[in-house]
Amino acid sequence: KARVFKFGDKTADGNSTMKNLLGGKGANLAEMSSIGIPVPPGFTITTEVCTEFNLLGKDAVVELIKDEVEASIANIESLMGTTFGDKENPLLVSVRSGARVSMPGMMDTVLNLGLNDDAVIGLANKTGNERFAWDSYRRFIQMYGGVVLGMKPEAKEDIDPFEEIMEHLKYKRRITLDTEFTIQDLKDLVYDFKDAVKKRTGHDFPTNPWDQLWGAVIAVFNSWNGDRAMYYRKMHGYPANWGTAVNVQAMVYGNMGKNSGTGVCFTRDAGTGEDVFNGEYLINAQGEDVVAGVRTPQQITKLGSQRWAELAKIEEQDRIENYPSLEELMPSIYKELNGYQEKLENHYKDMQDMEFTIQDGKLWILQTRNGKRTGAAMVKIAMDMFKQGLITEKEAVLRIEPSKLDELLHPVFDAKALKEAHVIAQGLPASPGAATGQIVFFADEANKYKYTILVRIETSPEDLEGMNIARGILTARGGMTSHAAVVARGMGKCCISGAGALKINYKTRTLKVGDKVYHEGDWISLNGSTGNIIEGKVATSEPELSGEFAEIMTLSDKYATMQVRTNADTPNDAKVARNFGAQGIGLTRTEHMFFEVDRIKAMREMILSDTLIGRQNALEKLLPMQRSDFEGIFEAMQGLPVTVRLLDPPLHEFVPHQLETQRSLAEEMHITLEAVKIKVAELEEFNPMLGHRGCRLGITYPEITEMQARAIIEAALNLKERGIVAKPEIMIPLIGTLTEFESQEAVIRETANKVFKERNDTVEYAVGTMIEIPRATLIADKIAKYADFFSFGTNDLTQMAFGYSRDDASKFLPIYIEKGILTADPFEVLDQEGVGQLVEMATERGRNTKPKLKVGICGEHGGDPSSVEFCYRTGLNYVSCSPYRVPIARLASAQAAI
Ligand code: ADP
Ligand code: MG
Ligand code: MG
Repeated sequence: KARVFKFGDKTADGNSTMKNLLGGKGANLAEMSSIGIPVPPGFTITTEVCTEFNLLGKDAVVELIKDEVEASIANIESLMGTTFGDKENPLLVSVRSGARVSMPGMMDTVLNLGLNDDAVIGLANKTGNERFAWDSYRRFIQMYGGVVLGMKPEAKEDIDPFEEIMEHLKYKRRITLDTEFTIQDLKDLVYDFKDAVKKRTGHDFPTNPWDQLWGAVIAVFNSWNGDRAMYYRKMHGYPANWGTAVNVQAMVYGNMGKNSGTGVCFTRDAGTGEDVFNGEYLINAQGEDVVAGVRTPQQITKLGSQRWAELAKIEEQDRIENYPSLEELMPSIYKELNGYQEKLENHYKDMQDMEFTIQDGKLWILQTRNGKRTGAAMVKIAMDMFKQGLITEKEAVLRIEPSKLDELLHPVFDAKALKEAHVIAQGLPASPGAATGQIVFFADEANKYKYTILVRIETSPEDLEGMNIARGILTARGGMTSHAAVVARGMGKCCISGAGALKINYKTRTLKVGDKVYHEGDWISLNGSTGNIIEGKVATSEPELSGEFAEIMTLSDKYATMQVRTNADTPNDAKVARNFGAQGIGLTRTEHMFFEVDRIKAMREMILSDTLIGRQNALEKLLPMQRSDFEGIFEAMQGLPVTVRLLDPPLHEFVPHQLETQRSLAEEMHITLEAVKIKVAELEEFNPMLGHRGCRLGITYPEITEMQARAIIEAALNLKERGIVAKPEIMIPLIGTLTEFESQEAVIRETANKVFKERNDTVEYAVGTMIEIPRATLIADKIAKYADFFSFGTNDLTQMAFGYSRDDASKFLPIYIEKGILTADPFEVLDQEGVGQLVEMATERGRNTKPKLKVGICGEHGGDPSSVEFCYRTGLNYVSCSPYRVPIARLASAQAAI
């Protein structure tokens, strides 16, 4: 079997469908080469070799691939007319990692590999550009030292050891830019770098190119199991056995002078989704320079450049002279690049994120991939591409990652509050959104406060975890394609980059803007859509479903067959959910209504009464309150079905536990404090979740069920009088036996009939049950004889099927997941293998008895995309989830049906 795949010169061994084997980067390099895009020749060592490396170790793996690698290097040599390790005419290569999905900056790249004290002279002579040769050499030592030899900062306040040497020299020479180093400076840097390596590692810097190459290849494999990569994998649920590929590719040089450069570009705007080609570049620069924010990058297009200048408050004349776009500076290169970006987007039918390098007037493409984007951009791009005829309607729906819609449902800054906000500075609107939080300066302190804004000079891959935790990210350096910007957009996190007015001091942990100093812990707000940095907090408001977002939802409804309802306990929740497109309420929990101040009193009175009369009196007080709650909810849902669950939690949750409250309750009820205490103690249970709750309450105190049934039916009748249709579905919780259901159903129906007689009018209503006790799933056929509907309470069902107390599971579940005992928290992602079987079986048995039985799910799982897909496969009529997850579930439901 082949372990190494070649590409270059318009041919390739692989292609873009081979991402699992060649990694995303390798597969796309092969594809680009085949479709005639100029990529420097190279080869890809497969991801399988990475897995072999983990099993067999270094020596065995080198032995396995040595012949193929040597042959592939020879192939590059013949295409480039250079020789690896040659003194006069050396071939230099880059060694790049590439997993099957892009993990930006996860694994480091080494450029200019193959240089040593001899080759650098050969390179200088051959190109007639001594400065370039030495600049490449110092970069190589720096990268190889960092990535392969472990020359990283020792403390987080420190800067990179090589950067430190460079900063020192810049200071000594009174210069600020890398490009201002003289040839002698660069030679000195090389000497000092090698010296630093020797001091720190105890070894000389490797001079043999083959040693260098194998060292780098192995370092890439090792980085797959580094902290950063593991964290990223965990965050996305990618398995460890995927491995990474290694790409070795002939170097092209963007640092050969004024006629060279390097850049990054996107076929559409990754922040907003707007269909405009955009990107950044630097003249006389190499590799990561643009992304790392070494210098202020310039824009690719004229339009982008003008927009940028406006934000940066730069005059048009100044812009043209000092920051011209590529379009203006190198029109023919721009034209060629623009052609490739169109070609690639049409070829892949998705927004592309590309890297390019210009070597002495010749354009090379170094990478393309489906670009990371914000949730808003994801939606807009999918809809636009559908309208442009690039993809079909169904493809547009499938392009949306349901969980990423979440970003669009978060609160946004209130327009009024924004007007009054005090803007302290402006940066680039790198990733849209609204974020308010307390300043932290280090990624590993991102959880120091509840809401944090990570403020950095620039971010690096090490900061990933902290960036994920922080509410927003603010950097002083770097452009729209900087590491911070790209990663933030991928995470859908608000980010402002390149805010040059900020003076950040890590040692004193301060941020200075003009004369004003902000300290760690101070509150700031970021408006990622405008780049405004705002002092203090800014109020937020609810987002709206509009534009392309609304369009994609309409498309979803066209394909979805399974409905989406919401869990809502208040008229307001119900309204929010309706706006998000909920098709009914799958769960209204009545107990939440009892927790309000004046209601809890009546509730407690009922619980503390020892007599039926006493309880009835208290329930009498609760009845009008419940009735008006239901009226509000029914009204908000306007004719859509509303499932109301009867009282569920153990009564102990309602009684006062503090002495103070107990005392005032005793006074109010004219009983002794002692009596209150006794009752509270009586209600205490060892396992409340398995205790006196659910239908067990209604069976011991039928008057509670009676009151609730009456409130529901009367509310429906009241609305009917006002011309509003209400469709109540009364749900009995926690049944395990048929007799439990029968007994409660009888109370409900008797009450309803009584009310109908009193009012001389009727409404339609249904009586069904929650299926949440494993025993109920076993006798579902019998229950279905009487029940009008089933609703799976998968929270309790999971709790009881696993025997994990939901309230205690947080002690061991994280450890279970870490150790791989479970792959996901079963309370978040439905356990299809086990709990799922109970759902399937109960649905099947129920429908055997009553083919038209309405079946839904109302646990937390109703809003989890993979669980929604499962519910669709199982034939459920609807899923029900919290209001803010309704759009996500609607989309997931459509995707399941497509
Ligand atoms: P990442 O996955 O972090 O983007 P890459 O492997 O793409 O890392 O490389 C980092 C930088 O080096 C990119 O800017 C890339 O364009 C540049 N680069 C990689 N290989 C070469 C090469 N052969 N010639 C010139 N530049 C290169
Ligand atoms: Mg790259
Ligand atoms: Mg329950």
